[in-house]
Amino acid sequence: MQDTLAVQIVSRSWKRLWRSAWRGGVDALLPPQCMLCTAQVDEPGRLCLDCWPSVGFIADPCCPTCGVPHAVPVPDGLVCGACLKDTPPFARARAAFVYGGGGRDLVLRFKRGDRTDLAPGLAALMRQAGAPLLTECDMILPVPLHRWRLWRRRFNQSALLARALGGVTGKPVLLDLLQRRRATRSLGRLNRAARRRELAGAIAVDPGQAAAIRGRRLLLVDDVFTTGATVNACCRALLRAGAAEVTVLTLARVVRAEQSAI
Ligand SMILES: [Zn+2]
Ligand SMILES: [Zn+2]
Repeated sequence: MQDTLAVQIVSRSWKRLWRSAWRGGVDALLPPQCMLCTAQVDEPGRLCLDCWPSVGFIADPCCPTCGVPHAVPVPDGLVCGACLKDTPPFARARAAFVYGGGGRDLVLRFKRGDRTDLAPGLAALMRQAGAPLLTECDMILPVPLHRWRLWRRRFNQSALLARALGGVTGKPVLLDLLQRRRATRSLGRLNRAARRRELAGAIAVDPGQAAAIRGRRLLLVDDVFTTGATVNACCRALLRAGAAEVTVLTLARVVRAEQSAI
């Protein structure tokens, strides 16, 4: 049974690889297209004027700590209720857009549609949202995938974004400093305490590389900030290993109604 499953997964991976390579070859011959539709755009990695408004880009006012957008105008620097109640382990978190509408479509195209070619365009959107974080950090690193999931998906979407951000900023990218020691269940349906239990000890710093981050300011990159449980577990591991500060930059973030209302 396990062997059959493994064969199916490998076969599916190869099909996806060929499809992706074929599309990459075809795309090189065609004028650049919008990241969300087939409209022609000036450069690869852009959105057309019709698709742009469908993406909920996050702008001020937002919580200075976790970056959740406030629903109504508030005084500068107002921290959200969640951060006041339970201070996150990261110094600041920012995301390019809300996970919903065109933003959700972008994430799913990139993550599940084999559109790894979107990484530079998506990283450019993250760069706009997290410019101060990128300027102030010493190093960039992605949230790790467990090797079993990496094998099935063939790529770590967070690592692709981290690498693209490293390319445009010149900051070093530590691709395998954080490691998943074991696979974890999907966290979406678990409550806060259960999520924390599920992640306890699952993410760790490679002891052989720990010296590289001692006293350094790190920028952690992920595709979607959902509950914050995974990035929080990564941040705690990094701080325990001696990092001076960790900030978080994601492509999208889930914003629940109760979060955006102050
Ligand atoms: Zn479009
Ligand atoms: Zn907050």
